[in-house]
Amino acid sequence: MTAAGVHTTCPYCGVGCGIVATPDGRGGAGIAADHDHPANQGRLCSKGAALGETLSLEDRLLHPEIDGRRVSWDVALDTVADGFRRTIAEHGPDAVAFYVSGQLLTEDYYAANKLIKGFLGTANIDTNSRLCMASSVAGHKRAFGSDTVPGRYEDFELADLVVLVGSNLAWCHPVLFQRIEAAKRARPSMKVVVVDPRRTETCDIADLHLALKPGSDVALFNVLLAGLSARGATDGRFVAQHTSGLAEALAVAQATDAAACGLAASDLATFLDWFARSEKAVTLYSQGVNQSSAGVDKVNAIINCHLLTGRIGRAGMGPFSITGQPNAMGGREVGALSNTLAAHMDFGPAEIDRVARFWGAPRMATRPGLKAVELFDAVRAGRIKAVWIMATNPVDSLPDADAVRAALRACDLSIVSEAIRATDTVDACRIRLPALAWAEKDGTVTNSERGISRQRPFLPPPGEAKQDWWILSEVAKRLGYGQAFAWRGVADIFREHAALSAFENAGTRDFDIGDCAALDDAAYDSLRPFTWGGASDKRFFGDGGFFHADRRARFIATTARAPVNAPQAARPMILNTGRVRDQWHTMTRTGKSVRLAGHRPEPTVELHPGDASARGLADGDIAEMSSAWGRSVMRVHASDSVRPGEAFAPMHWTAQVSRAGRINAAVNPAVDPISGQPELKHTPVEIRRL
Ligand code: SF4
Repeated sequence: MTAAGVHTTCPYCGVGCGIVATPDGRGGAGIAADHDHPANQGRLCSKGAALGETLSLEDRLLHPEIDGRRVSWDVALDTVADGFRRTIAEHGPDAVAFYVSGQLLTEDYYAANKLIKGFLGTANIDTNSRLCMASSVAGHKRAFGSDTVPGRYEDFELADLVVLVGSNLAWCHPVLFQRIEAAKRARPSMKVVVVDPRRTETCDIADLHLALKPGSDVALFNVLLAGLSARGATDGRFVAQHTSGLAEALAVAQATDAAACGLAASDLATFLDWFARSEKAVTLYSQGVNQSSAGVDKVNAIINCHLLTGRIGRAGMGPFSITGQPNAMGGREVGALSNTLAAHMDFGPAEIDRVARFWGAPRMATRPGLKAVELFDAVRAGRIKAVWIMATNPVDSLPDADAVRAALRACDLSIVSEAIRATDTVDACRIRLPALAWAEKDGTVTNSERGISRQRPFLPPPGEAKQDWWILSEVAKRLGYGQAFAWRGVADIFREHAALSAFENAGTRDFDIGDCAALDDAAYDSLRPFTWGGASDKRFFGDGGFFHADRRARFIATTARAPVNAPQAARPMILNTGRVRDQWHTMTRTGKSVRLAGHRPEPTVELHPGDASARGLADGDIAEMSSAWGRSVMRVHASDSVRPGEAFAPMHWTAQVSRAGRINAAVNPAVDPISGQPELKHTPVEIRRL
């Protein structure tokens, strides 16, 4: 730590950049990159660099409220505890739910998961990470027997071929893009392939852009698998010693029609040739893969190609899932998805028993709970009667978002813990609990390469706001579970979390940070970033050692299938949604920076010029997008960066900012049947002039 600066971690994307914040004594702070942090090595993107412009207390929720009236913490916490006690007594534990967030710190995430799964008796806790990487979690588990990201960020720089699938890395994970860009500049022979229906800013460094038909990723990687096999570009020793299931996967791949991708045969041949010849190949994928009704199959189709070539677990190679949020990985570690248990365990009988014994849990959940979309469906149907939302804004971020708002408004007991007063979810909830924000709260986060970093407070807590773990433990005490939640601070929680990761773990699970259980408070306070899973040069699976019982990875037969909702005559366009460079989620923080707002001051829909003119639309016109679920209004940006018949719109704008541009009101709620991740990138719409 420097004399005046506090070493902390950026609260935005899953790159997890280190920051040095220097408070100015007037409620603000200077922000600089941490040159010693392994993720960013002195770099920051526009969002991270503007963090100092987002620290004002305007729009903060600073006091507990019930039905719009300020109340004391005691009244608010008693009401929450009484409500949960009564609901469970009358309707059973599955009538309550938590919906949490990749914005939570690991210690907060751990507390929420422990309370609901160990003490309330239900696994109805899901996280907005369901929208981000649930398909990767499921794909990893099918292939590896564990939710393991095998590689490290440095693999992107060491690779001879970087394949970016469904990722606008230049805007969504800018520091990783900068690292690849610098590596390519230093070593121009390095090839970059971008697989994305859109021509994004990431294509600026691409040697080949495969603008495939939306949703055809499985077909593309099946064609690659079959082509690699036909060409003999395989690692027979690795396949024989460390995998199973190749024959079935290959048969399906060989039957795949390459025409489904809508790509030129010459581009496909180039892709195959580069992949076959590049021993050091990394395939990096993000939401274009995960946010799909075939997301899990897409992940496995990619992993299949790396297993066939033995390109996994060694420097400069491997499949790599980039997470969207600052602590999506921490959530995975504590088990905050409704279908997982803590410390990368599942709902097997032995694992349920192990976690219950560790926690001394009186009322352990015994089966997976509801996933995000079905959880809010259950709220709407009245099966869930008490829901507690923490640090997220599902009224804007979930698909079919108007239905989510209606569900919350009709719910008997709707609770939200939030730092921000003006969100559409806070508006829809009866009980509002003020939470600490970045710069005030304390704990750890885990980034996309399994790197654990401290987020440290450098500003005082405002108003009556409290950290989420404290709020949860106060409710637990009121429910009679004080002993199990008697933490003095975040270091106690981190030690407990670390101890659980090692509890009865004889190398059968990947996640083990048991050494951290011995950290004293001072060591926790001064913890420097570290990557779990071994030394900095260690990768998982280089010599096999997968986490299925037979220690072999699985090829998965992935049959290409179309997205759930096909375009029709009335709605012939395909809407794709995503991020813009300078905004984050629903803009509660980035929206405060005038500088960031200047990049994209209003929501726009990108349309191919031919589609725009066919509808009588010119660049700059206002258009309405309508789907079977809802509508949104945006300014038209005519651009040949999108394919004919397709449209792209940002996901950030909310009713608080721009009532009309709330895109998820129009987005379909179809999900992947395994991961439950919504298909946010494929909604049939029509677009017309307003
Ligand atoms: Fe923050 Fe991500 Fe930008 Fe790094 S790349 S500064 S983590 S938003």
